[in-house]
Formats: sequence, C-alpha cells, structure tokens
Amino acid sequence: MSKPIQIYLDYNSTTPCDPRVVDAMLPYFYDIPGNAASRSHPFGWQAEEAVDYGREQIANLLAVDSKEIIFTSGATESDNLALKGAFEMYARKGNHIITLTTEHKAVLDSCKKIEKMGGEVTYLDVEEDGLVDLAKLEAAIKPNTIMISIMWANNETGVIQPMKAIGDLCAKHGILFMTDATQAVGKIKTHPKELGIHLMAFTSHKMYGPKGVGALFVNRKNPRVKVTSQLDGGGHERGMRSGTLNVPGIVGFGKAAEIAMQEMEQDAARLRVLRDKLESAFKDQIEEVYVNGNVDHRMPHVTNISFKHVEGEGLMMTFNQNIAVSSGSACTSASLEPSYVLIALGLGDDLAVSSIRFSLGRFTTEEEIDKAIELISTGVNHMRDLSPIWEMYKEGVDLDAVVWTEH
Ligand SMILES: *Cc1c(COP(=O)(O)O)cnc(C)c1O
Repeated sequence: MSKPIQIYLDYNSTTPCDPRVVDAMLPYFYDIPGNAASRSHPFGWQAEEAVDYGREQIANLLAVDSKEIIFTSGATESDNLALKGAFEMYARKGNHIITLTTEHKAVLDSCKKIEKMGGEVTYLDVEEDGLVDLAKLEAAIKPNTIMISIMWANNETGVIQPMKAIGDLCAKHGILFMTDATQAVGKIKTHPKELGIHLMAFTSHKMYGPKGVGALFVNRKNPRVKVTSQLDGGGHERGMRSGTLNVPGIVGFGKAAEIAMQEMEQDAARLRVLRDKLESAFKDQIEEVYVNGNVDHRMPHVTNISFKHVEGEGLMMTFNQNIAVSSGSACTSASLEPSYVLIALGLGDDLAVSSIRFSLGRFTTEEEIDKAIELISTGVNHMRDLSPIWEMYKEGVDLDAVVWTEH
C-alpha cells in the first residue's frame, strides 16, 4: 500500500522543526541537563552558556543587543507580557492603547483584559486591503495614549503593515510601539531598532524551531523600556519573566534564528514563485476566485483565497486527507463563524466562509504545489457541481435579490 499524499500548506499555524534544530537541541535533554539559573556548578554553567548563545543568535537575527531578548513560553505569553506589562508599568503616563481589529487573539484578548483593569482601548478598523490608514491611526492618538500595538504581518492574509511609518508616528507623539511580529520574524528582515519598535513579540514554532518557547524584544536604550512581570517568582530575565528557562527550547530557537538569517532570503524568493504559481493557477482555471488582502504588501509565502459560493470547510473535506490548509471560518459550537479578520477587510460572510489560507514553507516542493492545484481545483469543481446556489448563479439569478426563507 502506498503512503497517502500528505502536503502541508499550513506553515502559518506551525512549522515543522528543522532537523538541524533538532540536532542542536538533543544534547540538552540528557547530556547537559543543568538549570541555567544554577550558578554554583558546571551543569548550570553549561546550560547558562547555551542560553547565552541562543540569545545571541536571536539578537543577531534582529540586529539588537542580546540583553534586549526576554524568553517566554511563546508569542501568546509575549503579547500578554508586552501589553499588560506596559499598561501596568506606564500607568502614570496614561491608560490608552490603540490596536487593530485584525490582530491575533493574544493581542485582542489581552486588550479586553486591560479594559477590565481600567484601561481604554481603541480597536481601529483596517482598510479593505487589510492595511491601517495612517491618518486614522494618528487621529486616534490622545493625550492619555501610551502605546500602539500593530502586528507586523497578519497570520491569515500575510498583509504587512507600514512599520516604519507607524514607528515614526509613535516617535513623533512619544508613545510606545509594540508589534506582534510572530509571522514576520525569520521570514523577512525584522530589525526593530531601524523602525522605532520598542516591544516585539515572536515565537520559535513559526520559524522552524520547537514549540513552547518564544521571546519578547524590549528596547533597552533611548528609550529604556520596561514591562511589569506578569509572573511572580525567581526574577529571571531581568525581572521581567520568572520561571526556569527552557534550555533545549532556547538552543533550538537560537539555531532556528541562525538558519533563518542565512536562508530566509533564498527561501522567500523560492516560495514567492511557488505561491504565485498556485495563485495564478486558481485564477486561470477557476471562475470567481478572489485573493484577500493587499497583494503588494504581503508575505511571500502566503495567499488567502476565496472560492465564491464554495464553503471553505466543506471544500477542505474534499482534500483534507491529502492537503493541510486553514479555512477562513472557525467551527464554533453550533455554527460556522466567519473569520473576524476577513470580515474586517469588508468581505461579506459568504466570501469569508469560502476562503482558504495557503501558507508555504521551507520544505514545500514544486511537485506538492502542482498536486495541490490539481486536487483543489477538482474539489472546487465538485462542490460547485453539487451546489444549487452555483447553478442559480450560472443561470444569472441575482443572488443578492433572492429572499431566503428561514427554516
Ligand atoms: C501563532 C501566533 C501567535 C501565538 O503564538 P504561540 O507561540 O503559539 O503562543 C501569536 N500571534 C500571531 C500573529 C501568531 O501567528
């Protein structure tokens, strides 16, 4: 029996751990078992050395000082620490934060909590292409604004925000610039200091490192930024994040950063070609295909596509034994909830629930893309052949004018 085809095009959900990363990590489970905080014996020193080296590798990728890297358990924790920690630390300066409606839940839900803690949050809408309007952003700044939190690249659409312009705006108004850069770090150049970013959250498992380890960049000079620790304990990580460090995880994260530094440009160039091939094939071969989000300011390995009148979750079922992707809807308890990110781009519910996110990565091959084009095109045609709505559309019925009866 031959192995079923399994094509992974869901790299924005998580990336496989690069085998070179796994190799670097292995000694730190058994041979070198120390706690990096044990200062009195060689086991601890070796672990500390490994952590220092990992921190250095990550700092190099970002062109920052290694003292500016705070290790966490992942980007969710880094987002929480940056937002709640800065809210607490800068309470005397003000209590207002500006963010976008298209942010990751780790940011949005941290902001919700901050509102409960007495903060004020502006959730700014994006334009139809997913980009923030800088004039609207500036107009939202108030005397009590302490921070703008805007993600570097969106996880669903890959849309890249104008980071330099936002950094300039924050500098002009003397407020902090925090970014969730999880989908950008290790894929494109992310040097926070060149762009006036003060806090930057990211995670290892979206850049070919292991799961369960992340980091927060905290700018240390001009201005010296601090965040209030959200975990009480041993005072690790310059007092900003207590807890025994995940030594093998940090070693792997560091190795992943080093590899990214060497290879991300070639990876991006290769994946852009494959992504564009996938996208053109769908546009050429299938009717009523829409690419969501700004296509010029977008990560090179991501495309978010709506196949009109084909419900994404159903479409996925036609090929999910063979291809892994994500759909633009989440199955909540009873209903199909369209993605709030796509709704914020102004898509109607129908287009939002008919979207699929394709995210390619380091191990994606051209054969896989060719196979994906074939299987997915077949799936779309199959779904449309069975669809009364598609039939009505083909017959020229104005679907917007149809009154659907509830039942
Ligand atoms: C994956 C992701 C996160 C969460 O990261 P974890 O390390 O899994 O906690 C946060 N923000 C964005 C944009 C992400 O894509």
